[in-house]
Amino acid sequence: MSFVIDPAPQVSVPVAGSDQRFPVRRIYCVGRNYAAHAREMGHDPDREPPFFFMKPADALVTDGADMPYPPATADLHHEIEMVVALKGGGRDIPVETANKLIWGYGVGLDMTRRDIQGEAKKLGRPWDMGKGFDHSAPISALHPVTETGIIEDATIWLDVNGTRRQESTLKALIWSIPETINYLSGLVTLHPGDLIFTGTPEGVAATVRGDVLHGHVDGLTDLRVKLI
Ligand code: MN
Repeated sequence: MSFVIDPAPQVSVPVAGSDQRFPVRRIYCVGRNYAAHAREMGHDPDREPPFFFMKPADALVTDGADMPYPPATADLHHEIEMVVALKGGGRDIPVETANKLIWGYGVGLDMTRRDIQGEAKKLGRPWDMGKGFDHSAPISALHPVTETGIIEDATIWLDVNGTRRQESTLKALIWSIPETINYLSGLVTLHPGDLIFTGTPEGVAATVRGDVLHGHVDGLTDLRVKLI
């Protein structure tokens, strides 16, 4: 087959301790998946089923690259999240077998133009330009589940310029990773190469040019990204 223009390159994420890379198909993100974060955003965490939004695959920032401060915002927020990388897919995946789809895990940032997102919420408009902008998804190298085992109770934190801004445990997720996969696969068919950003704990706040963001999940490679 020949194309009328050059096709876009395959987006991929490095694999820790390997020359191989994980090819990315889609990025799904869970909204408000920690109770304290739902409350800080003005919502009742007890009454809301999980909901999802997406970022384009080429929004990933990988391999320790800097993140350019995006245009059209004065309120760029950090959201530290554990990321699940899928090796399998399907529809209506039962909670009981959902972990079998997991290839591995990484540490990600769901960077958010909160002012644009807030305006979209107020006007009932899509979140895409608040969430899915260029370079909006810095991510660490991935670790295979064969090395880490299933991760359920790890500590997750984010430091900005050496000061702790967010800290929680994956045990605090409202919807566990198997439950998230179950819900999401009832809405779309999941495929190998899909990433799921699993939600952020409380403590989201604004960042500025020059900030160094340092994210951590127990057992994974730390994420370090500088805003330029
Ligand atoms: Mn998020």
